[in-house]
Amino acid sequence: MKGTDGARSTRGTRDTHWAPGEHILWRYRDQAPGVDGRVHICRPVTVVEDTEDLLAVWMAPGTECVKPVLADGGAVSREPLATRYTAERTTARAHWSGEGVLKLARPGDPWSVWLFWGPGWDFRNWYVNLETPRVRWDGGVDSEDHFLDIAVYPDRSWTWLDEDEFAQAQRSGLMSPEEALGVRSAGLAAAELISAWGAPFSSGWQDWRPDPSWCVPVLPEDWDRTPAYMTS
Ligand code: MG
Repeated sequence: MKGTDGARSTRGTRDTHWAPGEHILWRYRDQAPGVDGRVHICRPVTVVEDTEDLLAVWMAPGTECVKPVLADGGAVSREPLATRYTAERTTARAHWSGEGVLKLARPGDPWSVWLFWGPGWDFRNWYVNLETPRVRWDGGVDSEDHFLDIAVYPDRSWTWLDEDEFAQAQRSGLMSPEEALGVRSAGLAAAELISAWGAPFSSGWQDWRPDPSWCVPVLPEDWDRTPAYMTS
């Protein structure tokens, strides 16, 4: 596949793997009309594992990240749903509060799976974040969030999350009806994987722990830099 257009579209310019312990950026681009796909979420993470089959990264507690905020600096969630995606936004640097998050992604999957713990490593749930397959570049991976998410619990039950935001994103023109159908069918494919209790749910990642010698990755000044795959 290497060298074909299909491979480039999901792998960007990056063909080599990162080593465990390396720091990369896990980023999302804003798909709101008129913002030209600017990065609005950037999370510095440590590579746990990077193979042909899986990219696993750790976002440590307290990591300084970039998140979208309203123009006045207020939380996006405070904006009423009807105008949440059309109100003017900017970005802000803020430290991640709460426990760390383990993110797992199979190359090409239109979702990534996040693991959440409570204090004392009390495992809470998996979270399937529906998103475009990640594009790899020298500094990390880029994706676009698809609003709809799935929570998966240790008893293997699951539920859709953020249906309201998914519907509003369509009404606000961030997703066409065709794209929304694609997102829903990606979610249904994830649900099949959950029902079959395939990887990564069956892989025991809830017992994984970060290397205690790891430091918290630093958010670089140029967190929003444009990778070569977007300019060539
Ligand atoms: Mg999401």
